[in-house]
Amino acid sequence: MAMTVMRIGQARISQVEELRIRNHIASFTKDQQLLAAHRYWLYPHFLDDQGDFDLVFHSWIIEIGGRVVLVDPCNGNGRPHVVPYFNMLDVPYIERMQASGYRPQDVDFVVCTHLHHDHCGWNTQLRAGKWVPTFSKARYIIRLQEYEHLAVGHASLGPADYNKGVFERSVEPVMKAGLVDLVSGSHRLTPAVTVEPAYGHTFGHQMVHVDSAERHAFFTGDCFHHPVQLVDPTIPFAGGDDMQQVIAMRRKLVELSADLNACLIAAHVQAPYAVRASRAGSVFHFQAGV
Ligand SMILES: [Zn+2]
Repeated sequence: MAMTVMRIGQARISQVEELRIRNHIASFTKDQQLLAAHRYWLYPHFLDDQGDFDLVFHSWIIEIGGRVVLVDPCNGNGRPHVVPYFNMLDVPYIERMQASGYRPQDVDFVVCTHLHHDHCGWNTQLRAGKWVPTFSKARYIIRLQEYEHLAVGHASLGPADYNKGVFERSVEPVMKAGLVDLVSGSHRLTPAVTVEPAYGHTFGHQMVHVDSAERHAFFTGDCFHHPVQLVDPTIPFAGGDDMQQVIAMRRKLVELSADLNACLIAAHVQAPYAVRASRAGSVFHFQAGV
């Protein structure tokens, strides 16, 4: 598994892939006019000629100033799940991470953009029948309202719910180990890395802002699942808890990108991962890559 590295200012960005699922753009939009108008940047990066692309499940590792931040620790191994793709995974994720140059004990911060099953799984691993923290030296950064929502709601999740068991396996053990910082507002991790609210997909969704040497990137979690949702923010695929907030958030991300020449790097978007927007009069232009 090749490591992917990009740089945002002084920050070195690596990627650890867990799995990928083939998808087709028709599950997002059938608007051929929209797709034709944006072919100039969507193809061949985010769509192939058949309209196929991969939904990727991966973690981002941000290293800057001697600190290591891991964003969105995927699904994790050994968990029963109603969706076969995610059921009882046995993926060499830790080995891939080590091949990228990082051991679990090197991680200073783990940021879960939210507490869906595919964003907090590797928080823990099963050892001798117990779920124990994977990143034993890290502070786990979870938004207070996201934690409270799941802490209250998890007991009533049905067996078919995608997030059944997530609290017990992936959240409670790191909480009990005293490794969690429950955050609100804008929360600074390092001089260059801040965690910021990005509500909508979940009520307590957050994103990571890297600001270094006049370059910016936002690791946007599940604010969007395919870059086409930046040009039509109403495309509902995996919108989440509050679609009006999702739409407003996607619009805000496009404006942030244009204002700061910032990269938008989502949790499930395939290579070259980053999208940038720029203003051309009253319309936005887009490009793929850093
Ligand atoms: Zn997700």
